[in-house]
Amino acid sequence: MSTPAALGILGGTFDPIHHGHLRLGIEARQRLGLASIRLIPAGQPPHRARPGTPAEHRLAMTELAASELPGFEVDPAEVRSQQTSYTVATLERLRAELGPAQPLVLILGADAFLGLPGWHRWRELFGLAHIAVATRPGYILADALYGGDLADECPQRLTQDAQALRAAAAGAIVPFTIPSLEISATLIRHALAHGEDARFLLPPAVLDYIQTHHLYSR
Ligand code: ATP
Ligand code: MG
Repeated sequence: MSTPAALGILGGTFDPIHHGHLRLGIEARQRLGLASIRLIPAGQPPHRARPGTPAEHRLAMTELAASELPGFEVDPAEVRSQQTSYTVATLERLRAELGPAQPLVLILGADAFLGLPGWHRWRELFGLAHIAVATRPGYILADALYGGDLADECPQRLTQDAQALRAAAAGAIVPFTIPSLEISATLIRHALAHGEDARFLLPPAVLDYIQTHHLYSR
């Protein structure tokens, strides 16, 4: 029996979802040979204040963005859950759903990866999924990989070979380079709050949704 193709998991607050997130997913799918990308908007993220935008709006915007992209799907479970959104719990759920042989690839931007040692039960993540870390402007991976808490886990897991994502169901760390897009949801919220033009930072359908529902304006 051949190993099933790897499933990419891309979580975030998505407040709002933007071209930085979508390009990250497209690059991961193409470059790492992932079968599909599952976008998972967080309900109540543990590391930050409650998002300014209700979860149902963030989910709806994520669905609009995914509907234009082949190979992308949206998982509403964290939004629907009343619990704090812990990635380790989401991966346990997906592992139970998809079985022990299914390669899972948690896709993180470098900023998120550098914060990993602050995550709930973070060392257990490596037993549940591979981690693919993408470059993000302003964040340098190299230091973290060889110093601090991440250095205990990283050197033996680190590989440049995307084949590792198919050879096992979990456990590798694969860094990859993507074209730099210095876009963040913070930047978009700020622009919209100041009445600025946010086109080409996020999908037009998402921008229309924002305008229809008067999100982010003051
Ligand atoms: P905020 O400004 O509200 O923190 P954000 O744009 O950073 O929003 P998040 O929801 O915090 O978006 O990020 C979700 C995931 O997407 C994280 O893994 C993050 O590293 C990654 N990501 C977001 N924007 C980019 C980008 N421009 N380039 C690469 N990775 C990105
Ligand atoms: Mg962020």
